[in-house]
Amino acid sequence: MMKAIIVREYGPPEVMAVEETNLPEPVGTQVLVKIHAAGVNPVDTYLRSGIHAHAPKLPYTPGKDGAGTIISVGPNVTRFAIGDRVYTAGSISGTYAENSICDETQLDRLPDNISFAEGAGIWTPYATSYRALFQKAECKAGETVLIHGASGGVGLAAVQWASSAGLRVIGTASSEEGRDLILRNGADAAFDHTDIDHFTDIWEATGGSGVDVIIEMLANVNLERDFECLSPFGRIVVVGSRGSIEFTPRLTMTKEATILGMSLFNAPPDAMDEIHKAIGYGLKNETVRPIVAKEYSLEEAAQSHRDIIETKATGKLVIVP
Ligand code: NAP
Repeated sequence: MMKAIIVREYGPPEVMAVEETNLPEPVGTQVLVKIHAAGVNPVDTYLRSGIHAHAPKLPYTPGKDGAGTIISVGPNVTRFAIGDRVYTAGSISGTYAENSICDETQLDRLPDNISFAEGAGIWTPYATSYRALFQKAECKAGETVLIHGASGGVGLAAVQWASSAGLRVIGTASSEEGRDLILRNGADAAFDHTDIDHFTDIWEATGGSGVDVIIEMLANVNLERDFECLSPFGRIVVVGSRGSIEFTPRLTMTKEATILGMSLFNAPPDAMDEIHKAIGYGLKNETVRPIVAKEYSLEEAAQSHRDIIETKATGKLVIVP
């Protein structure tokens, strides 16, 4: 038997209850991973509420990010063996649990110098930010990028990717601790996105040329005003948005700007392969360094969901089953 969070109805964080359930058996190319840490992502809260296009069939165990050790393998597994340390990039049975069934294609090796809690903060943040920066905006060394919302999981990963790729990086956070963290992770400047003047300040920080790219974490709040600090021919990637906005389309004409939407759910297999390779290389040369802000027990899963939406970010929230 094992403990797992089971969601039996969509709703508020409290619908996540810890239950005793049978230990699943891996078949075919599946493996059973003992989960030492599970990553909490905003998308987990949208799925739990039932408001997301990919809302899972009930009942289900949340979580696709995690890290742990393999404790059993299906008969057709070729890439992994019992005892391997891995991080998950998806899960069949969910990672908010003591153990999780994954297909071997959903796993990658976790180097010894990365803790399990850090490993749980790899997949969604680094894959999303990599796709936004390099596969959507096609960022190049020497360009300036604004990571608009840089203190959370995706934002800090974006800061690390962009600074190691030779971009000039500007990040934003609403807390001083968040701004310090952004600077310590390689950003050249940090601003407060709750300051109504920060768009002008960022414009001035670029010497009046504007940022080439904006990675936008809250488009429903910022998309209209992003144009105040965007360079001509600039690109904006909408990574996060939690509502609607009144928008002036002429802004895109004046600057011949491009607005790109992205969802990791849509990444095709070749894009996924590129992301896996980049993360593997980044873990090896230590440019991928997940930052853990807080750990929760399985029983505290509901609190982790409240915190990821309501509190100021300083890295990743993880559940340690
Ligand atoms: P997170 O760890 O909770 O971080 C949220 C970030 O948003 C923090 O840096 C926060 O800064 C920032 N933020 C809050 N108010 C803001 C504002 N007015 N302007 C700009 N930024 C603001 O979440 P995450 O994992 O980094 O994810 C960030 C967003 O991307 C979420 O909306 C998530 O749903 C989305 N996402 C999308 C994809 C995709 O495939 N498109 C994948 C993963 C995540 P402070 O806390 O310092 O205020």
